[in-house]
Amino acid sequence: MGYKFLKIASSSFKSGTVLSSRNYATTHNADLVVIGSGPGGYVAAIKAAQLGLKTISVEKDPTLGGTCLNVGCIPSKALLHNSHLYHQAKHDFKNRGIETGEVTYNFKAMMDYKVNAVSALTGGIAMLFKKNKVDLVRGVGTIVNPTQVQVTGANGVETINTKNILIATGSEVTPFPGVTVDQTAIVDSTGALALQQVPKKMLVIGAGVIGLELGSVYQRLGADVTAIEFLTSIGGVGIDGEVAKTLQKILAKQGMNFKLGTKVLGIKKEGGGVKVDVEAAKGGNKETLDCDVVLVSIGRRPYTTGLGLEKVGIALDDRGRVPVNNKFQTKVPNIYAIGDCIHGPMLAHKAEDEGIVCVEGIKGMPVHFNYDAIPSVIYTAPEVGWVGKTEEDLKKEGRAYKVGKFPFLANSRAKTNGEPDGFVKVLSDKATDIILGTHIIGPGGGELINEAVLAQEYGASAEDVARVCHAHPTCSEALREANLAAYSGKPINF
Ligand SMILES: Cc1cc2nc3c(=O)[nH]c(=O)nc-3n(C[C@H](O)[C@H](O)[C@H](O)COP(=O)(O)OP(=O)(O)OC[C@H]3O[C@@H](n4cnc5c(N)ncnc54)[C@H](O)[C@@H]3O)c2cc1C
Repeated sequence: MGYKFLKIASSSFKSGTVLSSRNYATTHNADLVVIGSGPGGYVAAIKAAQLGLKTISVEKDPTLGGTCLNVGCIPSKALLHNSHLYHQAKHDFKNRGIETGEVTYNFKAMMDYKVNAVSALTGGIAMLFKKNKVDLVRGVGTIVNPTQVQVTGANGVETINTKNILIATGSEVTPFPGVTVDQTAIVDSTGALALQQVPKKMLVIGAGVIGLELGSVYQRLGADVTAIEFLTSIGGVGIDGEVAKTLQKILAKQGMNFKLGTKVLGIKKEGGGVKVDVEAAKGGNKETLDCDVVLVSIGRRPYTTGLGLEKVGIALDDRGRVPVNNKFQTKVPNIYAIGDCIHGPMLAHKAEDEGIVCVEGIKGMPVHFNYDAIPSVIYTAPEVGWVGKTEEDLKKEGRAYKVGKFPFLANSRAKTNGEPDGFVKVLSDKATDIILGTHIIGPGGGELINEAVLAQEYGASAEDVARVCHAHPTCSEALREANLAAYSGKPINF
């Protein structure tokens, strides 16, 4: 490779501390430097330290946890959960025999709750770093050569000599061409998580997972929300077509509006509001829509700015991702990459799991990652969860498959709880009965899907799951019944 691990006198830092040039030498030595402390990077750093590697995490942002903890999974779920409780209290309690006075919300307190949830978890990572003896260097990490990372931060420039480098720099919001996000009237997901007040009218551009989740939050709090989508279906990449249609119907019933097959031509601020020019994706039918706030949620793109990849000859692929092999090695064998900045779905649990197997690989352990067994969840009400192939995938592959479906309407727990919307759909191989995909829309779908992931990871057949005793009355019995329907053709309770 032409580079040797540089032997520089070891700096005398204590493990598990924040390293700074004021208290320590500006040169550090490590076995592994992890650039980025999102779910991919922080989990990898902890695992590496647990495996005995002297590990340094480098983070440019003031708090640890990356997109997921600061401006992604966690704050969005805090708002989704509390807006759902409000919505239930206002619209559903009465039917259940629960009398209250007038139910209102305090938006500032709801936002404060979110902020506290985020800071408890980001602070938790700092504690985990300490406990596991992961050192932290704050600043922007740049790869100088395959064994050196330079960190530019408030303390000046620090140099880390290292045997291995793991890139876990994640992703950023994809900008809408020609549109300036001001995070007040024209917001991206980060701005939508920190609005000062609930808009009267909100347009959401992109009816993928993030658009539907954040649109749901504000629709529940009283905003008139319309999701505009170029495609003719909602839910983003990988969702089963039948599930997407059902989700759209349910959300529409809740009051969300949809403009599908619609192209956004331009967005401009005018007269204290925002105007969005649209036309039918197929052409023609131009119109201008008004709103107080527009959320631009058209996706995310890998983030590798300032990383210095060009210095080590690593070229990005056509989608801006860092190319890696099945051990997460880049073309420079001691430089690895995981998470949102590489191929595969941009999901926190995918980044975490890649981080773990990647560092196990660095320690010489086997590296195995099954991209067919990564769950996806949309945290709307009801939740949507899926794993594996959709019916559309299987048709495209020309694979013979069986379908087992079970509606929550026929599940005793869902019916009793007054949550009968949705179904479980299991797709299994026609010849072998091996489960190929599971699709859930219904109560607790984001939790239920994990049983399906376990089954799929272990190569279970639909009969295997159908023969496992499930507690009664639970919504997971619907998953069992769908598997029963897939393998034997008939469920019991429907
Ligand atoms: C609104 C929203 C909701 C989401 N909800 C979910 C969800 O419910 N479930 C789910 O699985 N996923 C969700 N995601 C996606 C999830 O957040 C990402 O998939 C996940 O955070 C990716 O993890 P990562 O470690 O690869 O990168 P990131 O979390 O993006 O972390 C990268 C880190 O690297 C740091 N960094 C970058 N470059 C440098 C550098 N040169 N030097 C130092 N530090 C650097 C960044 O500051 C950041 O902290 C959501 C995303 C958004 C935006």
